[in-house]
Amino acid sequence: MTTVDLRSDTVTKPTAGMREAMFNARIGDDVFGEDESVNELEEKTAAIFGMEAGLYCPSGTMTNQIAIKCFTQPLDELIADQTAHVYRYEGGGIAFNSGVSTRLLNGYRGILTPEMIEPEINAENIHYPRTSLVVLENTVNKGGGSCYTLDQIKPIATLCKAKGLKLHLDGARIFNALAYTGDKAIEYGKYFDGISVCLSKGLGAPVGSVLLADKDTIKYARRIRKVLGGGMRQAGFLAAAGIYALDHHVERLKIDHAHAQIIAEALTRSAAVSNVLPAETNIILFDTVEPADLVLKKLAEYGIHAMSTDKHRIRFVLHLDVHPEQVEHVVRVIRNL
Ligand SMILES: *Cc1c(COP(=O)(O)O)cnc(C)c1O
Repeated sequence: MTTVDLRSDTVTKPTAGMREAMFNARIGDDVFGEDESVNELEEKTAAIFGMEAGLYCPSGTMTNQIAIKCFTQPLDELIADQTAHVYRYEGGGIAFNSGVSTRLLNGYRGILTPEMIEPEINAENIHYPRTSLVVLENTVNKGGGSCYTLDQIKPIATLCKAKGLKLHLDGARIFNALAYTGDKAIEYGKYFDGISVCLSKGLGAPVGSVLLADKDTIKYARRIRKVLGGGMRQAGFLAAAGIYALDHHVERLKIDHAHAQIIAEALTRSAAVSNVLPAETNIILFDTVEPADLVLKKLAEYGIHAMSTDKHRIRFVLHLDVHPEQVEHVVRVIRNL
């Protein structure tokens, strides 16, 4: 039976080419700064985004948490949308790792504007936590892969600069956002103090994210990574997969987006589906007439695996390991739901 795993873009497995690149990686002890593949990955990713330096970490949670630690002091407050991964899915790490409180805003599908942010910046007053950081997510995971354009980001960056706030980007799916908006990665370095770039979601590497920032921040970030136990040794085997992903798996993201369009279109025409959110990138959120768990059970009978995000809401995520025949299978099954 055809099986299609639409639970997440984290389920991808290294391709044959990626495995070969991993096998042949140039390695060394990265805690000594001697792993050539890790160094190359960090420099390459920083160059792509026009940032000074990079730090390879085991996960996006770690790059985000290190960034928050670098850009805040204990007792500070950060501003993020209420859907933000840093708040919802990082286990309360903002409070634990950085001793920082979080001011949550209600963006549209996770997208914030300077008008929403400005009134939430605390005035200088002994009663208030000091607002020191804004975190944006692009694409927004819980927003269903919704995107900021650079034109939406620029006025937020201007506001942050004027108010003396740092601006961090959780770019777990930044390449999906770039594929959709047509913005240039290199421009991003002008607007953000920190950027997390994930290699193990749509890009298909088995592990890893890179934190980008200026040299001094990355120097401090390296200390924090060590404290968190994220100093890896011959990590070049994994970094080589990241380099391969940047070279071979960025352009193809538009295939995942096209697949999402085809499936979203089929969902729109299904009587079992009451609403489909616009699928901008590789994520589709849709509401079901019957309870989501029931619909998921039916889908699973046809080998299609997905997750619910609410009682009547299901999420499909397209990725590297979903091929055109599988997309056709999904469309056929949706027709008969
Ligand atoms: C997946 C994800 C992360 C990081 O996840 P890890 O599993 O820790 O690598 C961060 N932000 C967003 C928006 C994500 O979707």
